[in-house]
Amino acid sequence: MPRVDADLKLDFKDVLLRPKRSSLKSRSEVDLTRTFTFRNSKQTYTGIPIIVANMDTVGTFEMAVVMAKHAMFTAIHKHYSLEEWKLFAANHPECLEAGNVVTGEMVEELILSGADIIKVGIGPGSVCTTRIKTGVGYPQLSAVIECADSAHGLKGHIISDGGCSCPGDVAKAFGAGADFVMLGGMFAGHDQCAGEIMEKNGKKVKLFYGMSSDTAMKKHAGGVAEYRASEGRTVEVPYRGDVELTILDILGGLRSTCTYVGAAKLKELSRRTTFIRVTQQHSQVFS
Ligand code: 5GP
Repeated sequence: MPRVDADLKLDFKDVLLRPKRSSLKSRSEVDLTRTFTFRNSKQTYTGIPIIVANMDTVGTFEMAVVMAKHAMFTAIHKHYSLEEWKLFAANHPECLEAGNVVTGEMVEELILSGADIIKVGIGPGSVCTTRIKTGVGYPQLSAVIECADSAHGLKGHIISDGGCSCPGDVAKAFGAGADFVMLGGMFAGHDQCAGEIMEKNGKKVKLFYGMSSDTAMKKHAGGVAEYRASEGRTVEVPYRGDVELTILDILGGLRSTCTYVGAAKLKELSRRTTFIRVTQQHSQVFS
């Protein structure tokens, strides 16, 4: 007989972070840099642990150059040619991870099999249709809380992948225990993204699509194979210019979160996190 798990599972939109006593005088005092030594490879990482998703629209070399200036990295998409890679990859080291999973037992299995960093998220992505096409998924906040607990028990690390739609969601992902947060849609539409700027109804837009969308599969695999369905959508997003302002907006929001909960370092954020369940996150009067 199928089992029904009736435990409460939450998404980013279901919670807010409870403000706490803080002795920080300015957001500039907050240190967002983290240093990790990975369990299996023993490699060390230092940086601001936000990653641009390996989607061919946003995970570009151009994006990586700007992100690197802010000590963040980009998971480069896999569709560049070897020649393009050779040109780019002299001074840009790679990092390996496994995923995607959403349960503690799978995280443990992957870490014990040799993975250092586990990517967490099935179905939360902005252009993902997996939950519609397959009925499979897991609310992302709960997935991160549960997977982080399992990973950290084994001295492993996790990436919260997908489902962040604003800087507050990024903060919630870190608060839930994510070591890294991967973002696709929040970086879409910029100069550093692949694709042309188009004009639609007098507005400038860029194309953004899931890596399992018809668009991506036509582009990279000559179409959707007969045995599978596309699990991604294609959208037009407003053109947003240079990604620099978006980066500063995300980092500014994150520093502000840390001051509200009294975390002088990003490292302290999850320890200072108490989530409050809410039915509404913000006023809808002018939306
Ligand atoms: P976002 O930050 O846009 O909410 O989510 C980005 C994540 O969505 C990516 O890192 C990747 O895990 C996931 N994703 C990207 N394209 C697709 C797709 O076509 N189908 C599915 N199921 N997930 C996708």
